[in-house]
Amino acid sequence: MSPDLFNFYDSIDSLLARISCSLRDSNSETKEISNDSLLELESLFGQALLGRALNLVYNKTPIKLYRTTNGTGQLFEVHGSKLDVVYQIYPGVNFCTCESFRYWVLQQQHQPTCKHVLATQLALPLGRLTEITIKDKAYVELKADLIRARFRSLQPSNASAGEGSSKH
Ligand SMILES: [Zn+2]
Repeated sequence: MSPDLFNFYDSIDSLLARISCSLRDSNSETKEISNDSLLELESLFGQALLGRALNLVYNKTPIKLYRTTNGTGQLFEVHGSKLDVVYQIYPGVNFCTCESFRYWVLQQQHQPTCKHVLATQLALPLGRLTEITIKDKAYVELKADLIRARFRSLQPSNASAGEGSSKH
């Protein structure tokens, strides 16, 4: 990773950590990201991506957080633009199986992440999540599904499907 890119990701991490802290310390009932932080987020992610991520955070269908009873296994579930499409994202892992992630993040390196990953990072400190406790076995099954989906998304036969049509 180039030093510039490293610094870029580092500033994203520190901004998200600051947002988390200020929201945790806030006494107000309704947690809101300060305007200053929103401007910083916008400068790092761009207005369009930030707007789409915030739409997901405040969506009617909330982001789900599956966690095992002891809390060691955690997995986010975010709905795609089409309601029957669901993306699973591990906390702290910048990866998503959506088209946008593959095209804009991995291939074009034009975006640091996709709206789904960004939405999970904002939903957590904002408390906009439905938490679902699951058994270890169910978590392992979720994880196995996810790995299968990732392998499918890495198949070369799918690599050019829908390329450039991604507007996430
Ligand atoms: Zn995504």
